[in-house]
Parts: sequence; C-alpha cells; structure tokens
Amino acid sequence: MSQIEIKKIIKAINASDGAGVKLKRSIGTPEADYIDPFLMLDEFGSENKDDYIAGFPPHPHRGIETVTYMLNGEFEHQDSTGAKGIMAPGDVQWMKTGRGIIHSEMPAMSGGKLLGFQLWINMPAKLKKNKPEYIYIKSKELGIHSDNEKTIKVIAGKYANVEGPEKNHNVEPIYFHVILKEGKEFKCEVPSGHNSFIYILKGDLKIGKKSHEKAGDSNLILLERGSEIKVKAEKNTEFLFIAGKPIGEPIARGGPFVMNTKAEILQAIQDYNNGTFAKY
Ligand code: MN
Repeated sequence: MSQIEIKKIIKAINASDGAGVKLKRSIGTPEADYIDPFLMLDEFGSENKDDYIAGFPPHPHRGIETVTYMLNGEFEHQDSTGAKGIMAPGDVQWMKTGRGIIHSEMPAMSGGKLLGFQLWINMPAKLKKNKPEYIYIKSKELGIHSDNEKTIKVIAGKYANVEGPEKNHNVEPIYFHVILKEGKEFKCEVPSGHNSFIYILKGDLKIGKKSHEKAGDSNLILLERGSEIKVKAEKNTEFLFIAGKPIGEPIARGGPFVMNTKAEILQAIQDYNNGTFAKY
C-alpha cells in the first residue's frame, strides 16, 4: 500500500465567466492547466447577488462532461436536449456533452448565499462524438456514509459499503464530499494510476506522512499517485476529494470546446455558427 503525499498546493485564482459570474478557478489555470482527466474546477460562491445574478446565458459545449455540485442556493438549467431542472442545495448535475449541447445555467434565487462547484472532465476521442446526456442527481440519491467522526457524501466511486449514483464511467471517477471532525482521520484506497486532488471548503488538514505548509480554504491540493489516501483534520474540516483515471490523449482547448486537435475546435466553431451544432 503506497501512501499518497502532497505534490503541490495551489491557491485558487479569482476569475469571471458566463455573463460576469465571479468565481475561483483552481484547475484550468497557468499553474494547473490539465490534471488529466480534469480540465477545470470552479468554485462559484458569494453572499452578494451582484456577483452571480447574471448567470450563464445560453452557450455551447463539446467534448467534455460538466459536473455541477450545489451546496447553497438554486440554479435553473435548460439545454438543447429539452432537459430542464432546478438545482437545489446538495443536488448534482452530471452533463455529458458529447458532440454538442447548448445550455443555460441561471440563478433561480433573487438573493442570499450561493455556493457551488463545477468540474470539467475530459472525454476520450471515442466518446466525444456521442449524443449528449444530461443526468440529474437529487441530494437524497447520493451515497452517504455517516459515523461519529465523519460524513462522506459519495457522488461517484465507493466508500466502505456506500456507492455513488454515477457508475460505469470510463475514467472510474471518485468524487467525495468529506466532512471530518477535528482530530479525526479519513482514509480510503485509490487506484494507483489515478490522478487526484483535494479542494478545501473549510478547516485545515494534514495529508500523508510528510509535513507541509498550512493549506486553508479554497486551496487545491494536488496529490502524488499512490494507492491509499490518509487525511487528518487539524480542526473541523470539509473538503472535496476527487480522483480519476487519466485519458492520455492530446487536448486542444477552445473555450467551451475541448477536442483532440485544433482542426476539431475550428469544426466546432463552424458547426455552432452555421446552426448544425446541436442537431442530433
Ligand atoms: Mn456551461
């Protein structure tokens, strides 16, 4: 069993997307461009409605999956497959865009606190041409492990006897929301070929055996590969633990499109401009 250690601690940077929604980006930045298979991680959170009220009006995607996890507030989603839904706290939207989807994500709240995460997972070349798929997971459908020391909400992967709702996925993702009491420990096995990271929501923690600088809120902790992760909470701590099998293909980015080559990006832009993008 090889213990997973910290590779690098990265502070999320302030960014803005959609129609001016303020967010903190930690993957998809100069410091962490691509943690194969993860292309982007955004935290959108604010108590000030001016930071989020303009939302994300209709825009396209191709070649990726977007996983949105709401912790506070409500967002309404609509897309070109006809899917529509309001995301409430604790809900997850797992969208596999395949060859093309046009969607909007708009706040369904007029004030109050918003907090959520959007993770982009790359799709391998063989799945980028698929028909888009929109999976809506209600908070009560998540796998939940709870004991005296911790609560683990399982969106994907397996913890003890609890399995997440997103199964049979090509990158065998692990997506846990871990709430750990001060002084307690979380550990689990991880496939040794997976890339993984931790994103701290609150608190302070220690990972593995080596000592390290304090890692606080909104820090992304990139991890070395290994077969077991061990995290100790230095105080009451909450974090996301995310891991996945690398795809190992070349990537070409073009904003909301992620393909294997520049030519495929140009094709996506052309399809979008001539109106054939989201025709299935
Ligand atoms: Mn989007």
